Amino acid sequence: MTGIVVVGGGIAGLAAAHRLAAAGADVTLFESGDHLGGKLRTSPFAGRLVDEGADAFVLRAPAAVELCRTLDMEGELVHPAARRAYVYSRGQLRPLPPQVLGIPTDLEALAASGILSPAGLDRVHEDLTLPATPLAGDEPIGAVVERRLGAEALDRLVDPLVGGINAGDTRRLSLAAVVPQIDALARDADHPGLIEAAQAAAGGGTGRGADSGGEPVFASPAAGMGRLVEALAADLGPTTVRLGTPVEALTPRGEAGLTVHLAGAAGLDADAVVLAVPASAAGTLLREVAPEAAGPLAGVEHASVAIVTLAVRPDDIARPLDASGFLVPRVENQAVAVVTACSWASAKWAHLAPGRGDGTVVLRASVGRAGGDAALDLDDDDLVARVVEDLAVTMGLVGAPREVRVSRWPGSFPQYAPGHLERIAATEAALPPTVALAGAALLGVGVPACIRSGTEAADRVWAVVAGPRR
Ligand SMILES: Cc1cc2nc3c(=O)[nH]c(=O)nc-3n(C[C@H](O)[C@H](O)[C@H](O)COP(=O)(O)OP(=O)(O)OC[C@H]3O[C@@H](n4cnc5c(N)ncnc54)[C@H](O)[C@@H]3O)c2cc1C
Repeated sequence: MTGIVVVGGGIAGLAAAHRLAAAGADVTLFESGDHLGGKLRTSPFAGRLVDEGADAFVLRAPAAVELCRTLDMEGELVHPAARRAYVYSRGQLRPLPPQVLGIPTDLEALAASGILSPAGLDRVHEDLTLPATPLAGDEPIGAVVERRLGAEALDRLVDPLVGGINAGDTRRLSLAAVVPQIDALARDADHPGLIEAAQAAAGGGTGRGADSGGEPVFASPAAGMGRLVEALAADLGPTTVRLGTPVEALTPRGEAGLTVHLAGAAGLDADAVVLAVPASAAGTLLREVAPEAAGPLAGVEHASVAIVTLAVRPDDIARPLDASGFLVPRVENQAVAVVTACSWASAKWAHLAPGRGDGTVVLRASVGRAGGDAALDLDDDDLVARVVEDLAVTMGLVGAPREVRVSRWPGSFPQYAPGHLERIAATEAALPPTVALAGAALLGVGVPACIRSGTEAADRVWAVVAGPRR
């Protein structure tokens, strides 16, 4: 027994290593960067601990909250204080009406919001009477939504929400892989239209609005998502963690073993490997041991984003911060050039309120999405200046921020094109049993999906390695 290697120290790799260590495996984790956590990173900003990447996980998929329970840190979880959200549409911020991933469930509230033009609203109403339109295989999200609700609802509701979560273009993303909830609505035999299917899925009425009360939808450790990374790292038992150590290749060894090749060092023999790295890196690493899996992985496109965090004086904002923030549809890019969304972090999270830090309001503006990332070529000063201009237009920000931070995340969001689920299934089928994949490239970019993929990959290789000895 030579042990199991985990490549990649993001949340997926950490979850895999944690699971393997708990099972009693001899684990070595290699991370190319100088810290663990990958896209989960929290750092001090304006007197508070503020996330630089992901700032919450959804509770509907239980893997993250279950992991927090295992780590005995469930008591540290907090939930957003503000649930309402706005959409910048047709010249101003307008309240996001009740919806399921952008599919409206309350047409009166939608009309009152003013997000859509009268013609756009009329087109949405057609969904209630159009005959059923069966899916033709795994279609792009955009094609399905536009067919039922029209282009305006796609551009101003579904694309900002779903595209926002994935930094993607819903006209090019797989319905089945990216939004299985909308896929299920589109297949609902009892309701030909998406609106009625969404109403039924949301509990028969108009559904839960973005501002409704009830059970919390999201959670985060009060000290930020970095706290989850810290807790995982502290509970890895005898696992060897090697930072600053990129894995360069895997080669087969003997009947089922592998050799893990490191830059400028002798290879390390392993019984099994969990690859928890972005798709392109996984593709490169698999070239020799599973060439058929390597191609499709290397072909997954990725979008780049940046989070520009600003600390501003409360008096410099000419409106109440009465929501978690706002989304900007890509069709508004004449008025709002670079910002795709802005989280009013100090309103969203009680622990980031002005009084919990230096008295400033913390805002987290997102920049960049698939097909719209030219602004990421700007240097930090220019990027911040453009963000400030956009925040002046959208939310009446005046004056200069007291503090700024630019967190760049190149190639961070895998874009699941139609057919993604089949490609991933074929890729996994082409792997030797001693290699398993985990991470955002597979079956969900959200933190719970990444954790789940990590623990499942760990279970698969552990069953192969430990099985014969049990
Ligand atoms: C700005 C931003 C905001 C987000 N917001 C949310 C949110 O609010 N909620 C949510 O649920 N999700 C959010 N996400 C998505 C989520 O954070 C990521 O999808 C998830 O963290 C990815 O985890 P991972 O382990 O798959 O990959 P990563 O975090 O990318 O980890 C992979 C690791 O592998 C390492 N690596 C790469 N190649 C090698 C190699 N050859 N050898 C060794 N190591 C290697 C990398 O350095 C990296 O640390 C957000 C993402 C971003 C970028």
